[in-house]
Amino acid sequence: MSTIVETARVELQNFLRTSDGMRCPEWGRCEWAAGGGWCLESSKVYVERLLSILMSTPEEFASIGPVTGCRALQLVESVAESLLETAGVQHAPVSSLIAKYADEHCPVEVRVLPLMRRRGAVWRLKDAWVIQLRAADLFYVRRFILFHEIFHVLVDDYSCLPCRRVINAPVSFNEVLADLFASYALVPTDLLERHWQGAGFSHLLARLFDVPDQVVCIRLRQVGLAL
Ligand SMILES: [Zn+2]
Repeated sequence: MSTIVETARVELQNFLRTSDGMRCPEWGRCEWAAGGGWCLESSKVYVERLLSILMSTPEEFASIGPVTGCRALQLVESVAESLLETAGVQHAPVSSLIAKYADEHCPVEVRVLPLMRRRGAVWRLKDAWVIQLRAADLFYVRRFILFHEIFHVLVDDYSCLPCRRVINAPVSFNEVLADLFASYALVPTDLLERHWQGAGFSHLLARLFDVPDQVVCIRLRQVGLAL
């Protein structure tokens, strides 16, 4: 793996290490948020809800703002971009095989299983990472979960695994960050700009990138292409 991924990874790992995973490490001292910038920590419940339900309308994403000054998202975007660069991604859809570049020291195995109670999980075994995905999920939902789990591999985060989505439980900042990493990596800015037809959200875009509709909605907002 090129050092570009390692550098971005280590920077993100160090940033996240100063928090327990439930809150943004910058919480309470972020100048971007204090100045009214869009804040993932304050919006995490909203983002989690938007991404975890299957039917959201594009209008529901109207509160997603540009994220240029959010340190957490800058780092996540940088890791996503360096991973895409290392894998040589140039076309949509982004290949799921990118998982193999997530850790240069340890192979990543992906297994599709008849999971009953969760959509995905990641385990760190002695000699491999194992990502489990639910066979019953739609292909593009499974891809989203896969990329979410790749985030955990990248940041070497297996302390709170498997990922749990318990109703009414407090929303974990790192879990939402993993979702946003998946969004960045599955719908890279340059490919989104290349394929955007100038008409806001379209199901065709979601099918082109092989992702749930919500992922395109959130990325259009972040990039400033939503109408
Ligand atoms: Zn997770």
